[in-house]
Amino acid sequence: MTDTQPKRGTLALIAHDGKKAEMLAFTMAHQTLLSKYHLQATGTTGKLLFEKTGLEIDRMLSGPVGGDAQIAAHVAEGEIMAVFFFVDPLGKHPHDPDIQMLMRICNVHNIPLATNPATAACIIEALED
Ligand code: PGA
Repeated sequence: MTDTQPKRGTLALIAHDGKKAEMLAFTMAHQTLLSKYHLQATGTTGKLLFEKTGLEIDRMLSGPVGGDAQIAAHVAEGEIMAVFFFVDPLGKHPHDPDIQMLMRICNVHNIPLATNPATAACIIEALED
């Protein structure tokens, strides 16, 4: 696929620090498919994924300073097809209200939301043609 072909839609990628390695592995495993979509990510996740894969990624603010909220706004506006948000259930997160808000907004708008790699694999399979 070349850059001249239209993108299929927009996907959001977010990972808490304890899950960034799994997000990187997921992204590398599905890089060809992901490159067919516009990608958005929270700041640190996006920086890591860009540096390791070279994928074009629109980077929002870092999660704790509003990145999750920015992505939630895009979900609410109908811009996002699916959200891959690898949450760390064992970590404490100062921005927990934003995390809950993003998940709630996905549910309000019935947008696929993968909070772990197993669910992400199911959604990716559905996106494959
Ligand atoms: P980050 O944000 O990609 O900037 O680390 C993720 C998050 O904690 O929501």
